[in-house]
Amino acid sequence: WAGSKAQDAEGNVLRPLDDFLRERGRRLEQVTDIIVTHAHPDHIGGAAVLLKATSATYHLGAVEQRTLDAARTGTSVDEYAVDEARAREIGAPDGVLSAHPFRTPKAELPAFIPRQRPDALVADGDTVRPDTDIALRAVLTPGHTPGHLAFADDNRRILFAADHILPEIFPGIGLGVGNLGGNPVKDYLAAVERLAEFDDYTVVPGHGYAFTGLAARRAETREHVMERAREVQKVLDWNPELSVWRLASRLTWSGGWEELSSSPMVWSALRQTMMYRDLVLG
Ligand SMILES: [Zn+2]
Repeated sequence: WAGSKAQDAEGNVLRPLDDFLRERGRRLEQVTDIIVTHAHPDHIGGAAVLLKATSATYHLGAVEQRTLDAARTGTSVDEYAVDEARAREIGAPDGVLSAHPFRTPKAELPAFIPRQRPDALVADGDTVRPDTDIALRAVLTPGHTPGHLAFADDNRRILFAADHILPEIFPGIGLGVGNLGGNPVKDYLAAVERLAEFDDYTVVPGHGYAFTGLAARRAETREHVMERAREVQKVLDWNPELSVWRLASRLTWSGGWEELSSSPMVWSALRQTMMYRDLVLG
């Protein structure tokens, strides 16, 4: 974001927040802390703009910062990256994947990441105190991204769950800007279990609306993941030697495999298939 056009855009981005604060007798300039749960454009993107407009302290998870450093320096470790070199091993028919060249990630940060480093790196269990009567305990909840953080306000019994658990949709898994290795689906399932501690809290998610009944939503979310795992298991039971490509072709995809396998999204689909395959075989 640069130039005068971006200035206008930034002003517009902050206007709803400014209006919200003014209605409550506060001002944008009074924002003291910007606490980012994970490095996705719809979450960290606003931080970059807000940091310019305020002198607030910028908090980001320590693990999430490591993934950004890995992306910036080209040292990401992604066990499920699918590139041209891996296409043959995966069993993709000749020429199918080369129709959609894999874009090797560049050693740089996407434009939506603030250029400045965080003032404070938040580790699992750390408490952030933006005000004397507010204490937010960081809960590392990897899976959606490797360093995703939820925050618990234990006094008010509120869990700020960001994109880890959502009331109406199921979050995507393994969507880090950078990666540190490991299986995001395994991490995600473990982190869904971990939230049992907050089952009687009010959940404030990153999308949708505040809700209660976390235990039921955790069960539905786990079931959604396990349903896919069972589908993968069933195909592998029939033929454990099946290539990743053939396995993917036998799974259910919205829009169908035929269309997906001839679109640029095929790389992501194969990556997802490998993650679930390892979960099942693991
Ligand atoms: Zn997200």
